[in-house]
Amino acid sequence: ASVPSSIPTIPTVPLTAEMRDSLRAIVGEKGLIEDEHGKQPFVTDWRGLTVGRAGAVVRPASTEEVSDVVRLCHEHGIAIVPQGGNTGLMAGATPWPSHTGIVLSLGRMNRVLGVDAVGYTMTVEAGCVLQTLQEIAADHDRFLPLSLGAQGSCMIGGNLSTNAGGVQVLRYGNARNLVLGLEVVLANGEVWDGLRALKKDNTGYDLKHLFMGAEGTLGIITKAVLKLWPAPKDVCTAWLAIRDPQAAVEILSEAHAASEDNVGSCEILSRAAVDLVLRHIPGTQDPIKADMPWYLLLEWASSRPRQDGADGMSEKMEQFLEGQLEAGRVLDAVIAQTVSQSRNMWRIRESMAEAHRAEGPGLSFDVSVAISKIPEFIDKGLKAVLDILPTIRPYPLGHIGDGNLHFSFMGPKGMDQQTLTQYKAAITRAVNDLVTSMGGSISAEHGIGMDKLDELSHYRSKTELDIMRTIKRALDPQNIMNPGKVLRL
Ligand code: FAD
Repeated sequence: ASVPSSIPTIPTVPLTAEMRDSLRAIVGEKGLIEDEHGKQPFVTDWRGLTVGRAGAVVRPASTEEVSDVVRLCHEHGIAIVPQGGNTGLMAGATPWPSHTGIVLSLGRMNRVLGVDAVGYTMTVEAGCVLQTLQEIAADHDRFLPLSLGAQGSCMIGGNLSTNAGGVQVLRYGNARNLVLGLEVVLANGEVWDGLRALKKDNTGYDLKHLFMGAEGTLGIITKAVLKLWPAPKDVCTAWLAIRDPQAAVEILSEAHAASEDNVGSCEILSRAAVDLVLRHIPGTQDPIKADMPWYLLLEWASSRPRQDGADGMSEKMEQFLEGQLEAGRVLDAVIAQTVSQSRNMWRIRESMAEAHRAEGPGLSFDVSVAISKIPEFIDKGLKAVLDILPTIRPYPLGHIGDGNLHFSFMGPKGMDQQTLTQYKAAITRAVNDLVTSMGGSISAEHGIGMDKLDELSHYRSKTELDIMRTIKRALDPQNIMNPGKVLRL
C-alpha cells in the first residue's frame, strides 16, 4: 500500500450496538451499510492500492441527517471520513486501517436545488455527480467549466473539498473559483449556512475558502452555489506534434492573443503517454500517425456563435498553426473536423489515469511550477529520476496551461509494486526537492490526503503548518473529521 512512513494517531473509539441503532434511526436501513462486502468499495481507494477499514458506511439523504450523524459522532468521539465519488488519487477518502468510525458517503444527497440562468448560478447538493451538473447547465444554455477525467463518477462535494483542477483551469480557475456560497456541517454537527449567491460579500473572513481544499478535515460540505458561464458555441480542438516542451510554452503564450483570449485548454503529452492510452483504452486512435516525442492538445472556444462570412475559431486556429509550423515549433497538426474526432483527442488525454492503472506499478507526481519553467523542470526531473532508477519508464504529461505536470513513471518491465516501492522514497525526494527549489508546489491539484502527509510536513514552513494546525484544532478539537489526512497534528 502507498502509505506514509509512520501511521498518524487517530481516534479509535469503536461503534457500539447502541450507536449503530442511533445511526439507523437517523438514516434508515437504506442509509447504513455494515456488512464487510458492502463496505469494501468505500474503504478501497480508486487505484486499489490502499485499503482501510470502517465500523460502518453511513449514507445520509439530507443536511439534517448529516448534522444528526455528525452530532452523534461528536458526542462519542467517533471519527468520520467524508466521501464523494471516491475518485481522489491521494487516498483522502479512504479510511486508515486503524479507523473504527464511519465513512460518511454523500452519494444520496444528489439534488439540484435550482438553476438561475439569468444570474448564471446553480445551487446543488454535495453528492451530485459532476457530469450530471455539466449536462443540466448545458440544458439551460449555460456552462459549468469544471472538467476532468473522473467527471462521470466524482461528486461536486469531493471536487470542492479537493479544490479540483482539470482541463479548463487555464481559463476559469480551479474549483474554488467556481463557487459563490457553501453550506457546511461542522465537526460538532452545527450547520453553517453560507449558501449565498453573492459576487460581492466583504464581511470579514471568507469562510467558504477554509472548507474548499480542506479534504474533509474541517467539516462536511453539504450544498454549494456554483457559478456558470455562457455555453461555448464555436469550439476548435487541435492535436499538434511539437518540437519540445519549450515549443509548447511558446505556442501557448502566442495562442492567447491569436485566439482573442479564447484558449480553453492546453495539455501536453509525451509520446510514451499517448502510446500507453492507445495500448490500454479500446477505441482510441492516434490523431497523427507518426512518431513524434511531444504533443499538444489545444482547444479554443468562444461563446459567440459562428457568423457567416467571418472567421470562426477553426479559421483562426488554422492561420495560427501555419505560423507555428513556419516557426518550427509545430511539426505536424490536425484540426478536429467532427465531434467524434475531437472526442477521440480528449479521450486520449482523459483516459491517462485509467491507462496507468491498467499498465501496472508506477509512480506519479502531481506538481506545478511557473509555466515558463516547465521545460527546465522536465529536463532536470527526468535526469534526477533516471539517475536513481535508470530502467524506470517516464510518461510525462500535464495541464501545461496551469504549469501543472503529471510527472508519471511506470516501473521497469517486470518489476513488482513492492520492489518499486523501495525506490519510491528516494525518487519522491528528488522530484519534490527539485520542484521546491524551482519555487513550485508538490501538489498542484490532487491534494494531500493520506499519500502526501509526510511531504506536506516536510515542504511547508513551520509558520504555515502552525496556522493550519491552529485552524484544524479550533474547528475540530477532537480530531474526528477525516483524521490523519492532510496534516499531522
Ligand atoms: P472523493 O475521492 O470521494 O474525496 C476526496 C476528498 O474530499 C477526501 O479527502 C474526502 O474525505 C473529501 N470529501 C469528499 N466529499 C466531501 C464533502 N462533501 N465534504 C467534505 N469533504 C469531502 N483531479 C483533478 O484535480 N484534476 C484532474 O484532471 C483529475 N483527473 C482525474 C482523472 C481520473 C480518471 C481520476 C480517477 C481522478 C482524477 N482526479 C483529478 C482526481 C479526482 O477525480 C478529484 O480529486 C475529484 O475532485 C475527487 O472527487 P470525489 O467526489 O471522487 O472525491
